[in-house]
Amino acid sequence: MSRVAVVGGGISGLACAHRLQELAAARRLPLEVRLYEAADRFGGNIRTESRGGFLLENGPDAFLTDKPAILDLCGRLGISDRIIGTNPHYRKTFVVRNRRLVPLPAGFYLVAPTDVWPFLATPLFSWKGKLRALADLVLPRGGSGDESIGAFLRRRLGVEVLERVGQPMLSGVYAGDPDALSLAVTMPRFKELEERHRSLILGLMRSSRRERSLKAAKGPRYALFSSFQGGMDTLVNALVADLGGSLVPGEAVRGVRAEAGGKWRIETDGGGALFDAVCLTASARSAGAMLERVSPALSAKLRAQSYASVATVNLAYPESAIRHRMDGFGFVAPASEKLSFTACTFVSRKFPGRAPDRHVLLRAFAGGVFGMSFYDLPDKALVSRAHDELAALLGIHSGPILASVSRYAEKMPQYTVGHAAWVSSLEEDLRRLPGLYLAGSSYKGAGIPDCVSAAESAAESILDFISR
Ligand SMILES: Cc1cc2nc3c(=O)[nH]c(=O)nc-3n(C[C@H](O)[C@H](O)[C@H](O)COP(=O)(O)OP(=O)(O)OC[C@H]3O[C@@H](n4cnc5c(N)ncnc54)[C@H](O)[C@@H]3O)c2cc1C
Repeated sequence: MSRVAVVGGGISGLACAHRLQELAAARRLPLEVRLYEAADRFGGNIRTESRGGFLLENGPDAFLTDKPAILDLCGRLGISDRIIGTNPHYRKTFVVRNRRLVPLPAGFYLVAPTDVWPFLATPLFSWKGKLRALADLVLPRGGSGDESIGAFLRRRLGVEVLERVGQPMLSGVYAGDPDALSLAVTMPRFKELEERHRSLILGLMRSSRRERSLKAAKGPRYALFSSFQGGMDTLVNALVADLGGSLVPGEAVRGVRAEAGGKWRIETDGGGALFDAVCLTASARSAGAMLERVSPALSAKLRAQSYASVATVNLAYPESAIRHRMDGFGFVAPASEKLSFTACTFVSRKFPGRAPDRHVLLRAFAGGVFGMSFYDLPDKALVSRAHDELAALLGIHSGPILASVSRYAEKMPQYTVGHAAWVSSLEEDLRRLPGLYLAGSSYKGAGIPDCVSAAESAAESILDFISR
């Protein structure tokens, strides 16, 4: 019987182990899979909690449905009927401008306008800023090689669009600095649109005319965001239930060693075991530490990956305590507004079943590359800052009835300029280490659908390798 070790029990490790078992069963290949997880629970970043009638997502609260792997997985797990979409009545995002909430103009696709009239009418930008953004329609192609998303947005749409929308939207997704993040990796579609259509706005308009779903979404892909009735843990629980005896919780892998005969040894505090193949799904930094004795060069390369830290603060209020209509999914705050929080989701507006009747659940984000001084505040101070800032923006006139802080220390991988070359060079190194695989959010996409898809393709490669 062949043996495979998967290290890390977040969504990547769970999806990898699950796919290995599925494929082995389909190919009638005797296979033992062992999934090592350092913590006592599975799910990694995914942490759903029920408290006092509220459903709190401490980490991810949604996934994009434009990539098929995650929907296929849900189908195979029998949980497709528990997928829920966002509330169609509130598909709007606000941006903080001069300490007030201004709606992102209709037709904005992530960080760029696709509808000229709402863009011209918005008070979010000055006339100079709007004209500069529309210069994209006539500007020639530019940029070469890997470029930062900040440099790209600055040259195509101008500084205002970058600072007032680009930076806070990207900060919400990557907790990163647009001037450091790679365009080719974080927004490959924008790079392609410029290559094909020259103008980003024209390219987006033409493709949104074609993509009817985008048009129906009328904004930054709201219709494509989904979750589960019972929260994101639904996916984790279904995988855990299927994996059963393969799971080894509470056992941190301390090191990996290459052994004679092409075998791999996994070392844990509880001892060690030999495997035919190993897939490391913990962060690149952790993988680097585990591989120190396999290849110091690969280990150093992996440890060079940088990460940002974020804290989420869930706050609940009676609806009557809030003056703002909260007719949207939340807001983002540009760094120039100098708030402690980079974004806030109106959780109970975004998905049904997150708060009891006549109550509201909000979730604020602190940290990221521009907000580490806030991330480091003690829980009590974070809660009181979050409440004070939300109270000022939303007109909240009584204290929260529930408050909960979660920290994700160095959990947001930064896909900086050069990331794609870094991944290629890791792949080159791995070709010289047959049986060793890497998957997880550090490499080919940090969104849950990307993690599932990369983990499943790692599982397919592993199975091909052991059945060669
Ligand atoms: C606050 C926050 C909000 C997010 N929101 C969204 C969202 O709404 N939608 C979305 O698509 N994505 C979102 N993401 C990104 C998404 O959560 C992650 O990219 C994804 O969950 C990563 O999964 P993973 O399995 O690769 O890594 P992780 O979830 O980090 O799991 C890695 C696991 O490895 C374990 N581990 C580490 N070292 C060892 C060791 N030595 N031995 C054994 N086990 C080890 C860890 O304990 C952990 O359980 C968010 C991320 C954060 C932090």
